[in-house]
Amino acid sequence: METLAGLTVQEFEELCAADDLERWRARPILQWIHRRGATSFEGMTDLSKETRAALAAKHRIFSTTVRERRASPDGTTKLLIGLEDGDVVETVLIPEADRRTICISTQVGCPVRCRFCASGLNGLRRNLGAAEIAEQVLHVKRELEPHLTSVVVMGIGEPLLNYANLTKALRIMKASWGMGIGYNRITLSTVGVLDKIDRLVEDGVTPNLAISLHAPNDEIRREIVPTMAKVRVIDLIKAGRAYKEATRKNVTFEYVLLDGVNDDRKHALELGKKVRGTKMKVNVIPYNRVEETGFRAPSKERLDRFVEALGGCGVPIMVRKQKGDEVSAACGQLRARWTEPVPTEHA
Ligand code: SF4
Repeated sequence: METLAGLTVQEFEELCAADDLERWRARPILQWIHRRGATSFEGMTDLSKETRAALAAKHRIFSTTVRERRASPDGTTKLLIGLEDGDVVETVLIPEADRRTICISTQVGCPVRCRFCASGLNGLRRNLGAAEIAEQVLHVKRELEPHLTSVVVMGIGEPLLNYANLTKALRIMKASWGMGIGYNRITLSTVGVLDKIDRLVEDGVTPNLAISLHAPNDEIRREIVPTMAKVRVIDLIKAGRAYKEATRKNVTFEYVLLDGVNDDRKHALELGKKVRGTKMKVNVIPYNRVEETGFRAPSKERLDRFVEALGGCGVPIMVRKQKGDEVSAACGQLRARWTEPVPTEHA
């Protein structure tokens, strides 16, 4: 049984042909799913009864369900998405002024295991399929907000370590037969899987990019992102520059500010020296608490001093507001849940 939410129009056309259904039907049926909020074949009222029955006998629309919804007083809402095998991932809607942003997950757990992040605490369970990634957007559109302004791929998992399923889901989001969310409205966050950043350009899947630096030098980065020890800060900056030149998309550097680790004035100056002149923004993210990690957020004074020193280097900066902390939906707080003990793995 195929899950239609995870198919491209070409794939579905092939299935239609194999099922003795006209190929042209693939496009409007996918539009029912991605644009018109259909959750059952029954609801596709312009199809004959026989066609609806034939489709329902062979296919399904979704493979996931919304298990639970938790809303924070600031409006941030987290959906727990139940997967077929019993695992759960999290998807978050972040409303802010006139913007409606959804943050989606790409893996169950994460092999990168950044030391400050809840998502990687238990390592990787498995990759999400293209349908499981795309369906998160469809669930949010249907249950919470039909008019999304942007999608950020910053939830659980390192997206570029699930390259094939991720790029297929992004194509589904962008397509005219799909959700119609252009790549300029999608931002992909990566901790720095360099060969796959190049591959995005080659494959023409070109969302905005947020590269997680988190440190001004390789020594500190190795401490907090130990599994990516081979990737140098300077190469991440170069990769960002090359991607920006090739795609003309926005590229930002993410920097999670950890008290006493990477938040000193000297760290800001070291970072500023490396980033200035690239015209790329640094997105400073004061740490959101995760009990088990032992890291703390910097004080307001340390945050201000860091931002001032970095800004003084001529680097454009944005400080991310904390949203969704009350329901553990803030950046770095999302968790994948599963019922059995999980083997610990490293990338
Ligand atoms: S910050 Fe991102 S890459 Fe690092 S462990 Fe968390 S989800 Fe994985």
